[in-house]
Amino acid sequence: MRKISKEAFRANIEEALKVKFRRRIDEATPQMIYHAVAYAVNALIADDWMETQEELRKENAKRVYYLSMEFLMGRALGNNILNLGAQKEIREVLDEIGFDLNSIEDKEPDPALGNGGLGRLAACFLDSLATLGYPAYGCGIRYRYGMFRQKIVDGYQVEAPDDWLKDGYPFELRRPEYAVEVRFGGYVNTEWVGGKSIFVHEGYQAVRAVPYDMPIVGYGNHVVDTLRIWDAEPLAKFNLEAFDRGDYVGAVEQQDLAKNLVEVLYPNDNHYAGKELRLKQQYFFVSASLQTAVKKFKEHNDDIHRLPDKAVFQMNDTHPTVAVAELMRILLDDEGLGWDEAWEITSHCCAYTNHTIMNEALEKWPLELFARLLPRVYQIVEEINRRFLLQVMQKFPGDMDKVRKMAIINDGQVKMAHLAIVAGFSVNGVARLHTEILKNQELHDFYEMFPEKFNNKTNGITQRRFLLHANPLLADWCTKKVGDGWITDLSKLKGLIPYADDPAAREEFLKIKYENKVRLAEYIRKHNGIEVDPNSIFDVQVKRLHEYKRQLLNILNVIYLYNQLKDNPEMEFVPRTFIFGAKAAAGYAIAKETIKLINSVADIVNNDPAIAGRIRVVFIEDYRVSNAELLFAAADISEQISTASKEASGTGNMKFMLNGALTLGTMDGANVEIVEEVGSENAFIFGLSAQEVIELEHNGSYDPKLIFNDNADIRRVLMQLINGTFSPRNPEQFRRIYNSLLSSNGGNPADRFFILKDFRSYDQARRFAAEKYKDRDWWARAAILNIAHSGKFSSDRTIEEYVQDIWHLKKLEIPCE
Ligand SMILES: *Cc1c(COP(=O)(O)O)cnc(C)c1O
Repeated sequence: MRKISKEAFRANIEEALKVKFRRRIDEATPQMIYHAVAYAVNALIADDWMETQEELRKENAKRVYYLSMEFLMGRALGNNILNLGAQKEIREVLDEIGFDLNSIEDKEPDPALGNGGLGRLAACFLDSLATLGYPAYGCGIRYRYGMFRQKIVDGYQVEAPDDWLKDGYPFELRRPEYAVEVRFGGYVNTEWVGGKSIFVHEGYQAVRAVPYDMPIVGYGNHVVDTLRIWDAEPLAKFNLEAFDRGDYVGAVEQQDLAKNLVEVLYPNDNHYAGKELRLKQQYFFVSASLQTAVKKFKEHNDDIHRLPDKAVFQMNDTHPTVAVAELMRILLDDEGLGWDEAWEITSHCCAYTNHTIMNEALEKWPLELFARLLPRVYQIVEEINRRFLLQVMQKFPGDMDKVRKMAIINDGQVKMAHLAIVAGFSVNGVARLHTEILKNQELHDFYEMFPEKFNNKTNGITQRRFLLHANPLLADWCTKKVGDGWITDLSKLKGLIPYADDPAAREEFLKIKYENKVRLAEYIRKHNGIEVDPNSIFDVQVKRLHEYKRQLLNILNVIYLYNQLKDNPEMEFVPRTFIFGAKAAAGYAIAKETIKLINSVADIVNNDPAIAGRIRVVFIEDYRVSNAELLFAAADISEQISTASKEASGTGNMKFMLNGALTLGTMDGANVEIVEEVGSENAFIFGLSAQEVIELEHNGSYDPKLIFNDNADIRRVLMQLINGTFSPRNPEQFRRIYNSLLSSNGGNPADRFFILKDFRSYDQARRFAAEKYKDRDWWARAAILNIAHSGKFSSDRTIEEYVQDIWHLKKLEIPCE
């Protein structure tokens, strides 16, 4: 690590206060101090950032471009300070001037440029790429409004705009010198020039894509990678011409296009909405990123055929899949290559990560929309499809059903996953179970056709944010026990195994968990006005609200426990605090109703003197990375209860494990591998297996009404949804939820996520967990073993696998003078 000069740091703070705010330190507000500290931190980053760029140029190194519609970064200040190794010095400087680093960090808005797991994965990957020293660019969109801010009003979710740029964001740097033009609409003229077809795009609308760069600071290695997010501006030149020609409407349209393009992040998680503006956003950032990447390549290389040696484009889900056709367009039309050479390059540059098998999440753009918006790109997709179908017919002669099923264009739709698989050289799932389901069921036809493309990359998380930053007490404890090597090699936590059987270490662990629960309890007191007992079990389910994630199973079981306590007030009962945090997509009615149900149950249960505070229900408003960090650190139980086969991986599960929470979960996604690492005796596993779910779905034999009829206690819980127990003013409040469990609707079978089917088994596992919680020694041992076995789930491990199998990058070495 470089030596940090406290004097210089303080001088930079003073300078920034003077220049930006015309204040002295003793006149500055915490908000101003935050901006000034960010300025001084940027000054520390700048040299390393420039040197990394220099090294990249010198080595002419291969880079990965991680194309993602979402980067859920969380706050940068605290993380940058830790990765720079400057925390001690900066704390001391702030101390001297009378400010506390934690409260200064709280002044930073969360750049919430993502929905949930997919966007957070991208952020963890960037942290690991920089820390491991690999050349990388994150490529995305600078949404004017990030993920909406969630307010809970009378128990309902209310969405407010997240105006994260309103005071300026100090960690971004506008780079107008790298602006490029992106074109939409119009038509394609074909001209015959010199024995060759030339495609000329005319009558289009264009915007200027302007990049903003954010530094991604590696931990202690002086490597600084770049997150490049694109803003849209009107094309000034074009506008003037339009006015000159009297084309007032045309000019305003371009202005509007630029203004609207990057206005909002669509708040859907795992759900395809088919909005025209969304496709525009996809093409916008992909085209800008690819144009720039090719330009950069050409500055240092003269043979375009060697692009695959210097650049790889990883597509985070199908959202950026238009990249394969855009790269073909650049190679064919701008570089003048023939189809076969362009295809050879493209199909060795692009790789695809699949994130879901759920039908409602698959992107299928209406052909009409796609062709109108991207006429030249559409021609190219048509040609890719034509050539691919010839291949299919060759491999499966006469099997027209296969041809229909596998086509990229079929039924008036462009199927983005098919395009990504056909044009990419790698297709990866995000957990072992998920990849097996892709190969054996969902994508089986493609697996038969291209077995060599398929591979697994089990997701991971960065321990720098989710332990070192989020849980300083536990981080220090780990360092005391096993040294600080875990910060860059999480497998080092294996050294904790012996401490699981050490009574003193167990006590220390329980004390730290208790302190973190107190910290969360204070947050809850401040934000919810609810008193929670840090001695109760903190049972936490935080993630996007989705039917498949089954928050409904959780809250129905809470109702069930409440009923039992009401019936037997004297029964022995371990006090529990059930904590939820979740945003629902703005248009997802049943998800929003589930939030209302959780809050309604909280109202009744938290205020019922008969149960004497033994159950508390808390809904954390506006779940996001910054409050997530508090929640993981404080959790005893990690709820990972998705319907088996539906959660591709999950990463929340890993963050909880790393912080010593025990998993209560199904054999789904990465839970399978978590249990494999830690042992099933140190987790609470329940419910249908993925294969059982898939079979029940296929044979349609599941009937939740039988469970309803045969079980009075379950029936009672469901009836309470429609008899006003939790909604006295409106007994019909939760009718939609009730119906979804018992009646089929619009092609969806009743209880399609098997909530009633898994109810008993969930209840037993939860009961068993509460029983075990009483044995403090047992619990501490199991929690320590969870931490000790979390090494596999570092995103450092994931990134090394991507590099080995897909990207083939070389590490940069930045000399430290
Ligand atoms: C990790 C994380 C997620 C993903 O959680 P899952 O439980 O894997 O769905 C979503 N949101 C935030 C803020 C996160 O930190």
